Amino acid sequence: MVKNMKTSKRILVTGGAGFIGSHLCEKLLAQGNDVICMDNLFTGQKNNIRHLMSDHYFEFIRQDVLEDIYIECDQIYNLACPASPIHYQYDPIKTGKTSVIGALHTLGLAKRCKARILQASTSEVYGDPEVHPQPESYRGSVNPHGVRSCYDEGKRMAETLFFDYYRQHHVDIKVIRIFNTYGPRMRPDDGRVVSNFIVQALKGEDITIYGDGNQTRSFCYVDDLVEAMIRMMNSRDGFTGPVNLGNPGEFTMLELANLIIELTGSNSKIVYRPLPEDDPTQRRPDITLAKKELDWEPQVPLREGLEKTIAYFKNLLVGMM
Ligand code: NAD
Ligand code: UDP
Repeated sequence: MVKNMKTSKRILVTGGAGFIGSHLCEKLLAQGNDVICMDNLFTGQKNNIRHLMSDHYFEFIRQDVLEDIYIECDQIYNLACPASPIHYQYDPIKTGKTSVIGALHTLGLAKRCKARILQASTSEVYGDPEVHPQPESYRGSVNPHGVRSCYDEGKRMAETLFFDYYRQHHVDIKVIRIFNTYGPRMRPDDGRVVSNFIVQALKGEDITIYGDGNQTRSFCYVDDLVEAMIRMMNSRDGFTGPVNLGNPGEFTMLELANLIIELTGSNSKIVYRPLPEDDPTQRRPDITLAKKELDWEPQVPLREGLEKTIAYFKNLLVGMM
């Protein structure tokens, strides 16, 4: 594709070989940008970006965000951080460092390059919320020393750094709080609920519900999220967020399990396992601000998004057998 030099931007995506990052890189390239994907491949995979490698405007750098970053760019999306509880709890100290030092390095880069920078924060900053649904003004209920705090507090500190760079150095920041997102390119061993249930259903294995299954989550299809991320990056000057991005449809894990059993036609049985420590009991985004500022709301209902995700995993599992 020939670039339109007036609109094309050099864009760094940290964590670009991960689930969300790879979809983002793909869309940014399709829009005519020059994309640099930086990833240490901890949870990301070359397979996620293999189809982009032949594009001259796509570059992959295998690098940890804990190392200094020396490139030039116009925009930065900072996604580097394991997102699944089993992965972020695998080496919690490293998870904390990734959020905090990763934020410092990308913010420093944004300051030097005068680039606009977007932080992929999370609904986990609300912890186990007492306010439902969660508006951005809610300050959260987070355990500062539990097993999830490496992620929750790391992301909260990253938000703090973003706003301090904004106030102190006038860095052009955008902060989004992503609620549970799913879709193709999640790892089959990712451990998050959507991929776990689909893989278990397709293999005819027991479907593992943690706790009584009445805890709720709101699931956003990845295409909807990526659209919102790009709208946020290109939103009006001075609109920093934080802004919630997610699908307000709210489901119990039991409802999700039954829907996946129905859509896969599986004979799997539901089994109950202990609830992990500090597992939030409810979660649903208030997306009033995203609707107003970004003119955005999710388009893909859960059933339709699950059908696409199931088709992806069916294909993947056939290839693995
Ligand atoms: P993912 O694990 O697939 O992607 C994270 C990527 O970051 C991976 O490619 C991984 O290899 C890379 N990475 C991890 N540590 C790194 C480091 N130190 N240096 C360089 N790269 C590193 O997860 P995802 O679901 O695509 O999440 C992407 C971002 O969105 C994360 O920051 C996550 O916290 C945030 N988020 C995701 C969700 C969700 O539901 N998927 C919800 C809230 C927030
Ligand atoms: N969960 C479950 N079975 C699984 C994996 C997860 O019941 O095999 C539950 C988990 O306890 C949580 C919800 O599903 O209540 C969402 O978990 P996930 O790890 O996907 O995301 P998060 O807890 O970070 O929202």
